[in-house]
Amino acid sequence: MSATNRIPVKMGELDPGFVFSQHSLADYDACARRFYLRFIARQAWPMVEDGPEGLSAIDRQAYLRQGKTLHRWIERRLLGLPAGADSTESADAELVVWWERFLATDLSGLPARRTPELELACVVGGARLYARFDLLASDEDGRAVIVDWKTLRGQKPPSPAFFRDRLQTRVYLFALAAAGAPFNGGRPFDPARLSMRYWLANFPERPWVDVPYRRADYEVDRQRLTAMVSAIRARSGEAAFEKTERLQTCAMCDYRTLCARGSARGGVALEDAAIALDDAALLDDTDAPALDA
Ligand code: SF4
Repeated sequence: MSATNRIPVKMGELDPGFVFSQHSLADYDACARRFYLRFIARQAWPMVEDGPEGLSAIDRQAYLRQGKTLHRWIERRLLGLPAGADSTESADAELVVWWERFLATDLSGLPARRTPELELACVVGGARLYARFDLLASDEDGRAVIVDWKTLRGQKPPSPAFFRDRLQTRVYLFALAAAGAPFNGGRPFDPARLSMRYWLANFPERPWVDVPYRRADYEVDRQRLTAMVSAIRARSGEAAFEKTERLQTCAMCDYRTLCARGSARGGVALEDAAIALDDAALLDDTDAPALDA
């Protein structure tokens, strides 16, 4: 169905053609109300306040901007285009440090064929699921590594289990196994030949976190994502999307003033705050694009 002959969406209802993504599913996982506000009501974000990661609103915006710039520079570099601080863009000191660390990073262990900013869509639970990889590195033998550039800060990097379990990892690996055939000579990837690698700009002593994939993981992810999509689509109307009871989730949410949870602050794990901020850098207003059938 094209964008021009879409069925009108009832107020407060999810668009039947809604395209899910790791961002929207992670929002639902955190709080059904947040999913409603962002993806059904399309509620503009209230003014950003100081965050639990300790940044002022202005510093937070600057950090988000630098993260986006780093991603754009890396993409241009991988495409063989001019990029970095010697291009026309200005850069702050932290961005320059990230960039120099990227340039010093040994990518030779990755499969040779590099596709930056790759978009994929697959079907799960009768709905479309969208993923956009910072980089897909693949080879002729069916091995593929999804790479994600992360600028999250902190005293120490989150644990490998933290990265393994996050929805971004589960969605990306599932989507590649389900819809990656065009990047594997027309054959679906064997999940056992896939992995995801997070590059951590702020932890040069241990810059990589690798998450391997297995066939059993693919089936577990398929069931989990199907259940999530079905649960979301079964809800109808604003009242069906309840607020989370976990106040520490509200402390990291831009809607906290709107939800009268503005005083929620305590108990936030620093790694959660850092990754939420890092994710925000890459969350567009629209998130997943409208895909025509
Ligand atoms: S402030 Fe809390 S209840 Fe409101 S949308 Fe955010 S996480 Fe949900």
